[in-house]
Amino acid sequence: MPPTRHRAFPHPYCSTRSTPSALGQRAALSWARRLDDTGWPVEFNDDVALDTSQVQDTRGSGGGGIGGRVALGGGGVGIIGAILYFVLSQLGGLPAGSGGSPLGLDDVQSGQSVSSADLSQECRTGADANAKEDCALVAVINSIQGYWTDQFARSGSRYQLATTNFFTGGVRTGCGSATSDVGPFYCPADSEVYIDLAFFKELETRFGAQGGTFAEAYVLAHEYGHHVQNLLGTSAKVREGTGPTSDGVRLELQADCYAGVWANHATTVPTSSGQPLIKSITQDDINRALDVAARIGDDYIQKNLGGGRVDESQFSHGSSAQREKWFSTGYQTGNPTSCDTFAARNLG
Ligand SMILES: [Zn+2]
Repeated sequence: MPPTRHRAFPHPYCSTRSTPSALGQRAALSWARRLDDTGWPVEFNDDVALDTSQVQDTRGSGGGGIGGRVALGGGGVGIIGAILYFVLSQLGGLPAGSGGSPLGLDDVQSGQSVSSADLSQECRTGADANAKEDCALVAVINSIQGYWTDQFARSGSRYQLATTNFFTGGVRTGCGSATSDVGPFYCPADSEVYIDLAFFKELETRFGAQGGTFAEAYVLAHEYGHHVQNLLGTSAKVREGTGPTSDGVRLELQADCYAGVWANHATTVPTSSGQPLIKSITQDDINRALDVAARIGDDYIQKNLGGGRVDESQFSHGSSAQREKWFSTGYQTGNPTSCDTFAARNLG
């Protein structure tokens, strides 16, 4: 359990859960990288080295944690319950009489740490990122952290690298155990990002997103936005609660804005080789990021994947329009100081 009382943020994508069929599509993620339907995807510079030490790959590690077990039945409400529970358990404040661990805490295998040897063999350079989807994600993570390392240094502080864990089914984290049901998330207690890559498939199949590498990059950059908030102490200051102007929503929109800031700098992030890792992105890439932002807005999820009725009092991440707006703000300004959602009177 976390030694400190950080609030956890099981991310924007927590309002959904993986269906058995989506989980079954996991294997597809190791396929060769596909080209997008329209235009070329993000292009990486072939010769730039990738740093796979920023990713811990526990996919196919045997036990698979909680496996494909569905933690809670029911629809959206059950999932929201699961999320609240997840947050509460991380705060050490499980409701009285709740008993046990709803997310299968005891079922998760410990010591699942698996070396990233395979990934380090597979993903050596930008050329590999151009050829394989999981290497592209490594490259994106390198780029995101490269940007923040540089940005922190410029403001006289030091960015601490955060590992992203690729897992399947379930995972034990410094914030307790979680299944893929909660979606990608950042755990402030251990400062790591967790993602079952099946989520990206689900974004397309269930949410109807266009997908593509840059859509996935937005999701990762959002989670790293939470890491930045953790390092800056922003996340420790927020109050609990939901609602359209809640601190929780402001924190999420700020993470979207930080994702946009990185996107602005994506093709200019310096590396030790002198060349940036990302060679080019297109307007189509940006559109795909915005498309995801719109499909994981609270109102979109409530309307299309929940009960069909929009209830602002339950907003936790912001509406589709707000998420698009704040990603765009970051993207257009390229400046993290433009992301002060806490000072904004009008969130959009
Ligand atoms: Zn988030």
